[in-house]
Amino acid sequence: MSDTCYQCRKPTSTPVPIGIVAQDAGTGGTVHACRSCVSRHHIVPMADWKHPGDGRPQYYSRTVPERR
Ligand SMILES: [Zn+2]
Repeated sequence: MSDTCYQCRKPTSTPVPIGIVAQDAGTGGTVHACRSCVSRHHIVPMADWKHPGDGRPQYYSRTVPERR
């Protein structure tokens, strides 16, 4: 089984569920990211979600100080 990474748009054999997109135009459903993108972009895996929100992918970036 393989899925397309939400971030890099490449097929991945180790998809991590990261969110849910609107069911429209036949592209809806669960979106996945590859493991390298999850760590590189600080994506929160759905399993670790504290709140579902609107279902879009969540990031840890808010807890990481940004460089200015
Ligand atoms: Zn990726």
